[in-house]
Amino acid sequence: MSKLLDDSSWLDFEKAHVWHPYAPMEGALPCYPVAHAQGVQLTLEDGRNLIDGMSSWWSVIHGYNHPVLNSAAKEQLDRMAHVMFGGLTHRPAAELAARLISLTPEPLERVFLCDSGSVSVEVAIKMAIQYWQARGNTGKQRLLTIRRGYHGDTCGAMAACDPETGMHHLFNRVLPKHFFAEAPTAVNDANWHDSDIAGFRELIEAHHAEIAAVILEPIVQGAGGMRFYAPEYLRQVRALCDAHDVLLIADEIATGFGRTGTLFACEQAGIAPDIMCLGKAITGGYMTLAAVLTTTEISRTISARAPYAFMHGPTFMANPLACAVANASIDLLVGSPWQERIATMAEAFARRLSPCRDWEGVADVRIMGGIGVVELERPVNMSRITEGFVDRGVWIRPFGKLVYVMPPYIISELELDALLAAMTDAVAEELARG
Ligand SMILES: *Cc1c(COP(=O)(O)O)cnc(C)c1O
Repeated sequence: MSKLLDDSSWLDFEKAHVWHPYAPMEGALPCYPVAHAQGVQLTLEDGRNLIDGMSSWWSVIHGYNHPVLNSAAKEQLDRMAHVMFGGLTHRPAAELAARLISLTPEPLERVFLCDSGSVSVEVAIKMAIQYWQARGNTGKQRLLTIRRGYHGDTCGAMAACDPETGMHHLFNRVLPKHFFAEAPTAVNDANWHDSDIAGFRELIEAHHAEIAAVILEPIVQGAGGMRFYAPEYLRQVRALCDAHDVLLIADEIATGFGRTGTLFACEQAGIAPDIMCLGKAITGGYMTLAAVLTTTEISRTISARAPYAFMHGPTFMANPLACAVANASIDLLVGSPWQERIATMAEAFARRLSPCRDWEGVADVRIMGGIGVVELERPVNMSRITEGFVDRGVWIRPFGKLVYVMPPYIISELELDALLAAMTDAVAEELARG
């Protein structure tokens, strides 16, 4: 690569011209340049090493620069990086579909491969609507979901996100209006109470004639608040969907591929959705790819009526490079002791994070599988606490009041201990500063 920018000023240029997620362009918060990454270590341009607590947003489950994933990418690269999927196909896509079908709940056996999590949510919503249309029901075009959810940033997906954290008022005129039930409060089946589902039940009973699908994140609500809820809620949602002719879309983009302790979070409730979205960890964090799985009944129904096709088709649909890496990543996962690794993480979180519950300024500590969350009473000062983490040699990216980790599955116990010690130290410092 020839260099247009010189070594001393490229970062100033970047700061002036390149957007970052959910951040102002002008006067942006500090950003740390990464030179390379290996295993669970990010190496900054200035030579400092950080233990990664984020898996680059749930995705890098096998760590960075993994030899198996690297060679899968290189082998596929030498064959073809990409080819259009309209009228053409390739082995990596078929292999990926076979893997996804064998791992996900049984009725899911039709696969749509697309570019990102948000797009997979768009696809899932369109599938549900087209299904009811094909059955001659044009009235079912809205969604029912629960507050505090997160389903992505494109307009269709955003319309199903929590209305407040999703800033619906800013996009008022373009977002469709969906039905929102209160977020579940019972965190497990032991403290389940039937009133938890009452609001949801009222909405589905009153409006099922307009509702194509329920969409929700099973068991763990991720970017909308890092909240966990009882499997019983999900079982009751499934039963209510069946009783009222409403499809169930499970957004497993964050929870899929083992993070919660089961391969997919739906398994914790023993239910199968009608449509499932997968993304994030699907390629082990190597490149962007997502998948939508559905049942044969839904795909047959859509295909049997005009326009005799599902109306979606991204340019980079089923990108072979991404599919090849996804296949290698899934094989790595399935062949690894991932359950033990997740259990080890959960134990370390319980040991290291639970004591924070008694700290003044800490509202809650939540642990599930490879997810550890410390919720504070007040939002953190982002640049200050981030500096605190980096100075302590770890990479943790809080949002609002939530300081949380979801490390790569391959993290060693030593690294995990160092990560959590740095996390709690920096939180203590942040709380002390008020
Ligand atoms: C991240 C996420 C998405 C959006 O995925 P992108 O790849 O960022 O578009 C959707 N749903 C859930 C549950 C997610 O965590």
